[in-house]
Amino acid sequence: MRVGLGYDVHPFGGDGPLVLGGVTIPDGTGLAGHSDADALAHAVADALLGAASLDDLGTLFPASDERWRGVSSMALLADVVDRVRQAGYQPVNVDAVIAAEQPRLAPYIDSMRKELSRVVGAPVNVKPKAGEGVGAVGRSEAIAVWAVALLESA
Ligand SMILES: [Zn+2]
Repeated sequence: MRVGLGYDVHPFGGDGPLVLGGVTIPDGTGLAGHSDADALAHAVADALLGAASLDDLGTLFPASDERWRGVSSMALLADVVDRVRQAGYQPVNVDAVIAAEQPRLAPYIDSMRKELSRVVGAPVNVKPKAGEGVGAVGRSEAIAVWAVALLESA
């Protein structure tokens, strides 16, 4: 058994829609950053990579590389799951916390869980958490995500 931790943060202000866990949230301002700025998919990917002692997402898919501009992070996550399997591991489960003051994410959490579980091939749990007015998340400047992943030898 191997455990890994992933963390990601993206500021609001992207050109595209808000996408979290492969789910487009219609009433949300988009996040700025790498690929489609899906901070949830990125944190889950980094948790899986960390558990397998592989390079992190930013090293595998550098933001400076034009190939990854606007690409779906769920496609990157699928690639990461392949790499984890090739390294001899199988995902057991993932748990994630999304810290966001706005928009209200509760109506979309089930869809995020389903999409992520399908791509990871194991249960992925997602929990929204408000920023309580504190820090960059609380001031609605950014969304931050933490994820832990458990792997077993395949
Ligand atoms: Zn990211």
